[in-house]
Amino acid sequence: MAKILIVEDEIAINDLLRLNLEIIGHKCTSVYTGKDAIRAAREQGFDLMLLDVMLPDMEGFAVLEKVRDVPTIFLTARGATTDKIRGFGLGADDYIVKPFEVAELLARVSAVLRRSHKTEEVYSIGDLSINWDAHEVFLEGKRVELTPQEFTLLRILIEKRNVCLSRQRLLAEAWGTDFLGESRTVDVHIQKLRKKLKLENHIKTVYKNGYRFEE
Ligand code: CA
Repeated sequence: MAKILIVEDEIAINDLLRLNLEIIGHKCTSVYTGKDAIRAAREQGFDLMLLDVMLPDMEGFAVLEKVRDVPTIFLTARGATTDKIRGFGLGADDYIVKPFEVAELLARVSAVLRRSHKTEEVYSIGDLSINWDAHEVFLEGKRVELTPQEFTLLRILIEKRNVCLSRQRLLAEAWGTDFLGESRTVDVHIQKLRKKLKLENHIKTVYKNGYRFEE
């Protein structure tokens, strides 16, 4: 299951995309303007964005520039110039020409998700190394025990490195949306992570906002 943001102003196409992606188990959010796309992408985490090039308020390219951390498939009308197609080199992962076959769409979505979900099996920085699959963390060659929440926080911060993550989002990801905790809970766990893993220089506090992992 992936969280997919659908950015398409043609309601029929937006519905068609959502319907087909939900049938195979994805969770979709539909928006119809570039502005709403940028807001949604900043407020929630998405695994993939389907992004129409011609939106009522701006071009899809402008949206992509603002939300670079989300893997993206562009939707473009037939007859788009080769220059535009070249523009996909801007950082999009793929593009689909409308009208499209549903089977083709689903295949491309799966391919991009497969590629982008490839978080490194082992992540290393300085004397720290993390094996995501084994849930093992080593600092200076010694194993460090993390609680499940600490491990999840660490994984999100590193997966979304260089992006500021709000306390609300970290809380929702590591504890679940039904957890009635306070955002201070996040602060406490971040302090522990920094100390246990000597990440004081990498896990940055973003004033009045949240945290960012810097390499
Ligand atoms: Ca359009």
